[in-house]
Amino acid sequence: SSNRHQELLEGLDPEQRAAACAPRGPVCVLAGAGTGKTRTITHRIAYLVRSGHVSAGQVLAVTFTARAAGELRTRLRALGVEGAQARTFHAAALRQLRYFWPRVVGDRPWDLIEGNKLRLVGQAANRLGLPTEVEVLRDLTSEIEWAKASLVSPDDYPAVAARLNRDIPESAGRIAELYRTYERIKNEAQLLDFDDLLLHTTAALEEHRSVAEEFRDRYRCFVVDEYQDVTPAQQRLLDAWLGGRDDLTVVGDANQTIYSFGGASPRPLLDFTRRFPEATVVRLERDYRSTPQVVELANRVIGAASGRPAGSRLRLIGQRPDGPPPRFAEYDDEIAEAKAVAGRIRELLDAGVPASEIAVLYRVNAQSEAYEQALSEAGIPYLVRGGERFFQRREVRQAMAALRTAASRNPEGDLVDLCRQALAGVGLTEQPPPGGAAKERWDALLALVELAEELASTTEGATLGRFVAELDQRAAAQHPPTVDGVTLASLHAAKGLEWDAVFLVGLAEGTVPIQHADGNDEAIEEERRLFYVGVTRAREHLSLTWALSRTPDGRRNRRRSRFLYGLIPEDHPAARVARSPKASKFAARCRICDRPLISTMEVKLGRCTKCPADVDEDLLARLKDWRMERARELNVPAFVVFTDATLVAIAEQRPTDSRSLVA
Ligand code: ATP
Ligand code: MG
Repeated sequence: SSNRHQELLEGLDPEQRAAACAPRGPVCVLAGAGTGKTRTITHRIAYLVRSGHVSAGQVLAVTFTARAAGELRTRLRALGVEGAQARTFHAAALRQLRYFWPRVVGDRPWDLIEGNKLRLVGQAANRLGLPTEVEVLRDLTSEIEWAKASLVSPDDYPAVAARLNRDIPESAGRIAELYRTYERIKNEAQLLDFDDLLLHTTAALEEHRSVAEEFRDRYRCFVVDEYQDVTPAQQRLLDAWLGGRDDLTVVGDANQTIYSFGGASPRPLLDFTRRFPEATVVRLERDYRSTPQVVELANRVIGAASGRPAGSRLRLIGQRPDGPPPRFAEYDDEIAEAKAVAGRIRELLDAGVPASEIAVLYRVNAQSEAYEQALSEAGIPYLVRGGERFFQRREVRQAMAALRTAASRNPEGDLVDLCRQALAGVGLTEQPPPGGAAKERWDALLALVELAEELASTTEGATLGRFVAELDQRAAAQHPPTVDGVTLASLHAAKGLEWDAVFLVGLAEGTVPIQHADGNDEAIEEERRLFYVGVTRAREHLSLTWALSRTPDGRRNRRRSRFLYGLIPEDHPAARVARSPKASKFAARCRICDRPLISTMEVKLGRCTKCPADVDEDLLARLKDWRMERARELNVPAFVVFTDATLVAIAEQRPTDSRSLVA
């Protein structure tokens, strides 16, 4: 087997290999999208297992979305590793909590509320006489979630909220009161929310020695993918898992931090070597996922980001052969955009690209509707990745109940037939409904039938009871069946995944970046990273589209996203600037973000200094000419007008000190 584990390393480049076969202990891979971070950790796990350093059952790998955890499991299975755990933080915590519950609480297990949390927060708000409109409740709920993920208690909340200058819909004191009341109602009802899973599991490990000992005896090797999005609550759980040990591999890309609104931070990733000075640290630059055309675009997007933390300044180098140039297209309205995208998808399907290799990615889930409509009209199968939690879907829960009943009445007969019969009762018709939500429900039920077919074909005499047990197991492991079709997903849900063809849609101001980010520099940067995540999902075909109005009868009152600036080729019809700077400095507006321009220099540049842009040698040269001109006008030496450092700052779009300008 020594050959077999060496063989594993052949599919890696030297840097990836260094990380994969580093001795047990702290390992950190800091690298951009598509450079093989996930590949490196799956190979590392396989390598450690095959070389006998650790047994598969002692490995716990965690990541952040169910989809990404599924991807980890698929890749591990492909490498022949059976029995290593790969889960989301929450799923891992849930499993551990269930196991330790009798010992630490003793009661019957508490239920997860997840679905109707808003109602509980609503009850709490009602008791306190706070507003209960859904919109406000949603904001209040996410603020409570943020506090819990950030390990901020109700007592500490007002001080922390003030220190961080949180943008909140109520006074911090009232929110603290709401948070406290919500916790009380929830605990009285013996319910757990998602954040509780992490907090209770951490507490069980920290406060019960026998729990900690048993756990630490069981798990010895920890791996975290997408570490840039770790929250304080997750970090604390991870520390409780480690219990002072250091067998920890983390990989991440600070440029893909997209959950900081929820309390996540790339700091633990960037400070990893400070915590573990002896860590093996690897940086990867080669991008194996995307064509050089896509890589080039990704580099531009992230190159325009401002205020990036040290350690995140990476440039990707494409490794794949050339592909088609990214496509840009502007439409009158969103319906026209969706129709055009569906048409283009049809072309790709006809050209042989499988539906499962195509994704439409959008900023908010509400955008999926237009695409569901357009794709169903075009007869293209699709699946929506908004509701990741397959087994919590209403029709799936109904289906499971129906299957359970059928199984108890009859463990005889053909499995697939019995399954179809049971599911007919909950809406599985012969023919698929035309589209929309009904089609999606139908697809979910059909996926269950396909699983039954799979079980029947692999297991002699499989019974309905056996099938239900298999489904229970999948539900516990958050391992949904695959539904074949074009993926519709939010940018957040697409993290870590890849497709041959990616359509980034709705790239208009107000959507990307999202309206409420406007005016908040940090929020805008997070939106830009989200856009970067989107761009880097594509292997080959990348399409970027936007619409000038929402509805066909609407006014053309939308502008394309500021993030597109500098990406669209000069000769493209959409490349013309929407507004040119006016002569008067008071009337002039930034041609990227449309803010009024406030200095002569900004007017001259035609944009504000806050807007990042892909300005290079060319602009620098023009600025230098302008400097000479002004100097002649003012009859002063050129360096007095402004310094080269200032010119560079302008060209790189860093804020400049206006006092350094004589003009
Ligand atoms: P992300 O930041 O988006 O999560 P990542 O760094 O985790 O990206 P992977 O998903 O591991 O990147 O790899 C991207 C693609 O490149 C995958 O299809 C992977 O199989 C492929 N790949 C990675 N490394 C190599 C390699 N050395 N040789 C060939 N293909 C590779
Ligand atoms: Mg990855």
